[in-house]
Amino acid sequence: MNYPKLKIDLKKLRHNVETIVKLCKENGIEVAGVTKVFCGHPEIAKAYVDGGVSYLADSRVENLIKLKDFQIPKILLRLPMISEAEWVVEYADISLNSELKTIEELSKIALIKGKKHKIILMVDLGDLREGYFNEGDIYQVVGDILNLKGIELIGLGTNLTCYGGVIPSPENLGRLVKIGKNIEDRYGIKLDIISGGNSSSLHLLLNNIKIPGINMLRLGESLVLGLETAHGSRIENCYDDVFQLLAEIIEVKEKPTLPIGEIGRDAFGKVPQFEDKGIRKRMIAAIGKQDVEFDTIIPVDFKVTIFGGSSDHLILDGTDSEVDYKVGDKVKFNLSYGGILRAMTSEYVKKELICE
Ligand SMILES: *Cc1c(COP(=O)(O)O)cnc(C)c1O
Repeated sequence: MNYPKLKIDLKKLRHNVETIVKLCKENGIEVAGVTKVFCGHPEIAKAYVDGGVSYLADSRVENLIKLKDFQIPKILLRLPMISEAEWVVEYADISLNSELKTIEELSKIALIKGKKHKIILMVDLGDLREGYFNEGDIYQVVGDILNLKGIELIGLGTNLTCYGGVIPSPENLGRLVKIGKNIEDRYGIKLDIISGGNSSSLHLLLNNIKIPGINMLRLGESLVLGLETAHGSRIENCYDDVFQLLAEIIEVKEKPTLPIGEIGRDAFGKVPQFEDKGIRKRMIAAIGKQDVEFDTIIPVDFKVTIFGGSSDHLILDGTDSEVDYKVGDKVKFNLSYGGILRAMTSEYVKKELICE
């Protein structure tokens, strides 16, 4: 079985990585390549490494295990669960943290393994996902962490534009740098890393806004989609079609747009609504909500539109297209970040890596 299929152009991906790594290097910033959108697939991650990222980063330990043979440091992005601490110490060189209880457990396990586990302490600058919110709490917990023999505190990090949609700025990132300086002065230590967020921080570099002190970004969406995510604009000289989805047509028929009969609930328990567009050329493609969310895929043939579908069926409108689609033909889609994530996660979607 070959379809549905996700085609992944590794040359285009590597080009995106090289372009963005260069921009970051010019600003004194190292890139952690975030692999979670492709489930830590090692052959795809290789394009990151070949493109020059300094770290590989993922939110799930399962994915870091797949990356264990790469000789660059691996970062666990999601705060560790205490129950997985043993695997975190084994497979992540660095983890992002915001709870002393978890850090103490990581220290305990690191000591048993005869290791030192590196951590980046997370600071919440207002986006309201993870991290210490009160500055006083941060200074205090650093004192506690410095007493833990199995832990090395290597820096501070923050995450923005994730929950609250807060855009990275010289003000909020400047505050992170200042907190880092205060910690260095107060405890006489050196923090090597100030990690200033994700792809939404790239808009600063693209607009030539300097934030001295920020020396790492953790980038996923910008690398795979060539997008700056604070405002959603394209990054110049990057590809937005590294990932493309192909689905096969299994039925083509002229049918009305209004269902016939009394309308109850659809396959997902919702009462559907329809616009009467008369008789249309309806095409069913063999892919469904188990594989993708339909608002995360965009037909490359822009004259094809999506009617909707269910778990295993996608219904398309091919009436206006210049292509005379027939049963057995493949329809091609571009994907948003969420679309790539779901399609990579679905075991029913075949992955084809293109190297040339
Ligand atoms: C997912 C994630 C990133 C990467 O975000 P992008 O918007 O894809 O660049 C960075 N940091 C953390 C903590 C994340 O969970």
